[in-house]
Amino acid sequence: MRLKEVARHLLPAPLYNGAEKVARKISWQLRYRGNTYYCPCCAQRSGSFKKFRSKSIDLERLKPQNSAVRCPICHSLPRHRIIAHYLSKNTLPQLTAGPFIFFAPEQALINYFKKADIHYQSADLFRKDVDLHISITDMPFEGGTISAIMCNHVLEHVDDYKKALREIARVLQPGGLFLFTVPMKSDLEKTIEDPTVTDPKERIKRFGRFDHLRLFGLDLLAVLRASGFSVDIIKGDELPAEIMPVTGPVDYDINWLFVCTKNS
Ligand SMILES: [Zn+2]
Repeated sequence: MRLKEVARHLLPAPLYNGAEKVARKISWQLRYRGNTYYCPCCAQRSGSFKKFRSKSIDLERLKPQNSAVRCPICHSLPRHRIIAHYLSKNTLPQLTAGPFIFFAPEQALINYFKKADIHYQSADLFRKDVDLHISITDMPFEGGTISAIMCNHVLEHVDDYKKALREIARVLQPGGLFLFTVPMKSDLEKTIEDPTVTDPKERIKRFGRFDHLRLFGLDLLAVLRASGFSVDIIKGDELPAEIMPVTGPVDYDINWLFVCTKNS
């Protein structure tokens, strides 16, 4: 019997689960040890990143040269590291002033915010492990009361993303911050969407994933401005190579970070 199975039999479940997690982390640290790469989400160095795997995307869109992009310690992807790097180099008072609402929070960024001592209320319409069960298109907040909102790879799942942007602009204070990333192609002028496409295979083919409702194009900028935002875009190729801020793992992961400020 392997040591792992012996431990599973002997230890109470919570203790076993904790020990297994620590053992797995040590094993990954040994396997990926080195100094070439740095993950600003978990502040750990590694010699290489892990391969990205998913059954729910269009594999033809996977960029083979950029498929090993996951941090072996915290599983961050390029978009998470771009955000953590940007936030670590720029003071954004809206994030600490509060209230800060973080939709569909990802573990790598949860780790980062904890380390940076930045507090937020987590939100999601479907997940159980969040503070607020709310829709991004209809939030239970008075207008102009929220300091910051973040959501990554959320707007491509929302039925009416323009309504979501209007709602975000409504609840934010003047000067409030909206940070987000979406699947997007920089050579696509107009967002591709078609609400009549409901077949998962067809969605994978058209929008890249079975539950994506659209693939964003450059017209998103005009929609943001029309919704009442000033927009800055942080592009990965301006950031240090050691965080591997590449386009990937999929061709629509151009990983532009939109830093939007609500107009006064
Ligand atoms: Zn990491």
